[in-house]
Amino acid sequence: MPDASIIYLYGGSSLIEEQIFLPAINQVPLVPGTLYLVATPIGNMEDITLRAIRTLRECDLVAAEDTRYTGILLKRLGLVKKQISTHKFNEAKRSSEIVSRLKEGETIALVSDAGSPGISDPGQRIVEAALSADLRVESVPGACALIAALTLSGLSADEFHFCGFLPVKSGKRASRLSALLKLPGTLVLYESPYRILKLLNELIETVPNRMLVIARELTKKFEQIHRGTATEILSLYSNKKPKGEFVVLVDSANALSPEKTSDDVG
Ligand code: SAM
Repeated sequence: MPDASIIYLYGGSSLIEEQIFLPAINQVPLVPGTLYLVATPIGNMEDITLRAIRTLRECDLVAAEDTRYTGILLKRLGLVKKQISTHKFNEAKRSSEIVSRLKEGETIALVSDAGSPGISDPGQRIVEAALSADLRVESVPGACALIAALTLSGLSADEFHFCGFLPVKSGKRASRLSALLKLPGTLVLYESPYRILKLLNELIETVPNRMLVIARELTKKFEQIHRGTATEILSLYSNKKPKGEFVVLVDSANALSPEKTSDDVG
């Protein structure tokens, strides 16, 4: 009979304690002096792994992008943990504190507000600092909007380019987008609801015939996936304001039929 492990499952605001039988092999204790990169849900609160929950439960410290936000997650998991904030404005300063604590043998779980730390979220500097100090870094993988959107898009994932958010300033933005649209493979971008219409207009200008997939509010109640050209998708917003979170995928230029390729002006 395998070892019984108590796993906390939660839905809505209620916490349900259930006995789940897991083989002891899954229960590797946290290694002192390790930085754990723990993915958290991007919407649906069920999207957190058993290992992520255990890591959060057993670590000495949670380094969170926003301690209030992560506090809500921890509360839902029934955990009371010591937290420090590690956001983009203090990441450099926090790196040295985190490295010192790791050197003393602490186990630290790094989490962002949603999804995978380091993907358009703080994390990279802390990872770099830990690696430079010869410390262990371990991934506790899970939800990531990029991967969720790419895999459901129907577009090729054999080769893709992810560049997170485009620059906000017009000049830099136009040159970056133009360079990205020349690359082979599927292009994956993150975009805010305030700039999604601007991006669709930019894509109408540059690649009017490319197939786009817009993944909105992934894993959430009002998830929507739109497929079509930029003009077709823009028309859906003719009389409503875009809301929520968006991943924008642009099909590879190679995927177009020859007569459409000539319409690419990016
Ligand atoms: N670290 C996160 C990840 O692993 O995906 C990304 C964080 S980044 C600050 C936030 C952006 O990710 C949003 O503006 C949106 O472009 C994308 N995103 C995050 N959650 C999403 C969701 N549920 N649906 C669609 N896009 C999402």
